[in-house]
Amino acid sequence: MIFDCHAHVGYSKFADRLITAELVLEIMDKSGIDKALLLPTASTGKYYNGEQMLAEANKAPDRLIPFAGVNPKDKNALNDFEEAVTEYGARGLKIHPVYAACAADDEHYVYPLVAMAEALGVPVMFHSGDAPYATPWQIGLVAMDFPGVTIIMEHMGFDAMVFTSAAIKMARKCPNIILGTTGVMYEFPITAAVNSIGADRIIYGGELPMNNPIHEILKVRCAQISKTAQEKILGKNLARLLSIQD
Ligand SMILES: [Zn+2]
Repeated sequence: MIFDCHAHVGYSKFADRLITAELVLEIMDKSGIDKALLLPTASTGKYYNGEQMLAEANKAPDRLIPFAGVNPKDKNALNDFEEAVTEYGARGLKIHPVYAACAADDEHYVYPLVAMAEALGVPVMFHSGDAPYATPWQIGLVAMDFPGVTIIMEHMGFDAMVFTSAAIKMARKCPNIILGTTGVMYEFPITAAVNSIGADRIIYGGELPMNNPIHEILKVRCAQISKTAQEKILGKNLARLLSIQD
C-alpha cells in the first residue's frame, strides 16, 4: 500500500493551473499510489478552506484525506483551522513558513496554531529546508515546545546536506517528529534516517501533481533499508499515524 503524504489541490503558481482532485487521482493511478493526503496549495497566499478541501477529498473519500492549510499571519487562521477540523473533517494542519514569510518557530503567529492542534489532537506538517523561515532547527524547537503534538517535518531538510543532517538530528532528539521524504536530495538521507531513528517515523511523499511521484517512490525503494522498512515508509506509517486502515 502506498500512502502519499503530499498531494495538492487549488491554484498552483508552479503548475500555472487549477489543480483538481481528478488530476491528483489520475497521477495516483498511473503511479500505483493508493491513498494521498490532500494539502491546499500555498504559493499564491490563498488557501482552500475546510469546505473546499472536503469537497475535493469527497471525490474519492476512501483515497483522499484532507488537511487544513492556513497562513499563520491571517487574522482568521485559528478559526479557519478549527473549523476545518471540527466541521469539515481535516485530519491535520499544513504550515508553509516560506510562503507566509513567517518563521516556523514564531511564538506569536505559529504557536497558537500548534496549541490548537494539540487541543484538537491532530498533527502539524511543516515545509522544511529553507532558510530563514523553515530550517530543521526551528521546526525542532516547535517539537520541543510541544512534545504532545506530532510534528511532520516534510521534505526532511530538502536538498541541502546540512539541512538533511539537521532534520535527522532533530528527529533523533524529538520523538514527536516524523520526517517526510518529499523532494529530499538522493536516497541516502533516507538510509541515514532509518539507521538513526528507525523506520517508524519516516513517511513518503511525492508532491503531486507538480512532481512525478515515481522518482520519489524510487528513492525509498533504492535506499539501503529492509523491505519491511520500505513498506512502513511508503504507507504503513502514515496510515498508523492517522488511524486509517491500510
Ligand atoms: Zn507541496
